[in-house]
Amino acid sequence: MANDDLKALIRTIPDFPKPGIQFRDITTLLLSPAGLAACIERMVAATDGPVDLVAGIEARGFLFAAALAVPLEAGVLLIRKDGKLPGATIAEDYALEYGQDRIAMHADALAPGARVLLVDDLIATGGTARAAIRLLRKAGAVVTQAQFLVDLPDLGGAAALRGDGLRVDALVA
Ligand code: IMP
Repeated sequence: MANDDLKALIRTIPDFPKPGIQFRDITTLLLSPAGLAACIERMVAATDGPVDLVAGIEARGFLFAAALAVPLEAGVLLIRKDGKLPGATIAEDYALEYGQDRIAMHADALAPGARVLLVDDLIATGGTARAAIRLLRKAGAVVTQAQFLVDLPDLGGAAALRGDGLRVDALVA
């Protein structure tokens, strides 16, 4: 499946979740067996070196993290909105357009030195992904790569991550 065909499986919903936002809706791609398989196959192929854990960001990132972890022979680490995980957590704050948010992971989820691949469905400003990387590194992870299904390059998130020295791959821009 060509990248343009993958892109065609993603629809844009205007004014969601608020007026003026063009929301990229990947649920239509998830419904396509061929589209989903192509995504996972390409993300596996783009993975640079062995990883111990694939960290997925709530909620759509979980889908890709689990599907990638199996062929990569890695585990899945959940990065969730603060307050959702049952065990002791560490957290990281990040700025939103208005206000701030906080993501968390279990404090004992990884051994120092674990090689972690970060995955999410989409990168926009990069605020979420950068907070996730700070959080993972705080826990002792080695994070050198992040993968996304969609990059919105005008918002600069992928460029910012690359500026931080990470390898960033996205299937659709
Ligand atoms: P960022 O922090 O600005 O890079 O926003 C990325 C986060 O917001 C990711 O967790 C995405 O799932 C979510 N997000 C932002 N915009 C969209 C969109 O248009 N479609 C789907 N998810 C989005």
